[in-house]
Amino acid sequence: MKLLVDKTAIITGASRGIGKAIAEKFAENGCNIAFSYANSVEKANALESELISKYNVKVRGFQSNAADFDSSQAFVDSVVSEFGQIDILINNAGITRDNLLMRMSEDQWDEIMNVNLKSVFNLTKASLRTFLKQKSGSIINMSSVVGVMGNAGQSNYAASKAGIVGFSKSIAKELGSRNVRCNVIAPGFIETEMTAELGDDALKKWTDGIPLKRGGQPDDVANACIYLASDMSTYVTGQVLSVCGGMLV
Ligand code: NAP
Repeated sequence: MKLLVDKTAIITGASRGIGKAIAEKFAENGCNIAFSYANSVEKANALESELISKYNVKVRGFQSNAADFDSSQAFVDSVVSEFGQIDILINNAGITRDNLLMRMSEDQWDEIMNVNLKSVFNLTKASLRTFLKQKSGSIINMSSVVGVMGNAGQSNYAASKAGIVGFSKSIAKELGSRNVRCNVIAPGFIETEMTAELGDDALKKWTDGIPLKRGGQPDDVANACIYLASDMSTYVTGQVLSVCGGMLV
């Protein structure tokens, strides 16, 4: 059974990694997709063509900086005019700029806050009018277990991801009466280009601490998104769903 037929989703940062897996799963489930990316033009074009030919849904990639307020509004406006509706918003775009606080520059702090946290404000605010008019919507924000546990060398990243939780719970309370839901996914260690930067030692340390004894796959996160985006979760809002192999147990 396809769970997202005739719905339209905006997914930020879908040229690769978790966002790409979400776009693929959503297309497979009949969803039309508008996705953004920062620089990966070729990868984005390839994904667009692949999804259209494989699943016969409407798909369009937009090069749009999620950290920029005006560009985010322009992106959402284009989606509304081309697709006519937004049913699902997935704020997935994110980066790391790891450093111990002692060595962290102001730029490293600001860049993380802008790309990881301000982006969530930008896209949610830009989509708000459409959701309110439609009297429905599902917003899914990508946090991290690191936002709950903290992690040495990632104080900027952890703070941005914890901020997403506070924002999302507030939005769930603000918009619940309008049938707009807002939930968070907190992935653990997921094998993408973001985590490929870690060496073998760090990798082993992470997996040793995971009850399921392995890293997760982008599809594991995409499956959780299907649940939170679809009518399977119409009574679920303001929640944080960890997809972490038990890391947070
Ligand atoms: P990834 O492989 O590095 O992919 C990041 C995606 O975000 C790319 O599509 C990138 O586009 C896009 N992006 C980056 N900056 C952007 C910007 N300013 N505007 C628009 N798009 C932007 O990362 P990932 O591992 O899939 O992570 C996806 C999300 O999950 C992030 O929020 C991350 O923090 C979170 N997360 C990941 C893990 C993990 O273990 N991988 C764990 C917990 C949480 P380009 O290709 O154009 O650069």
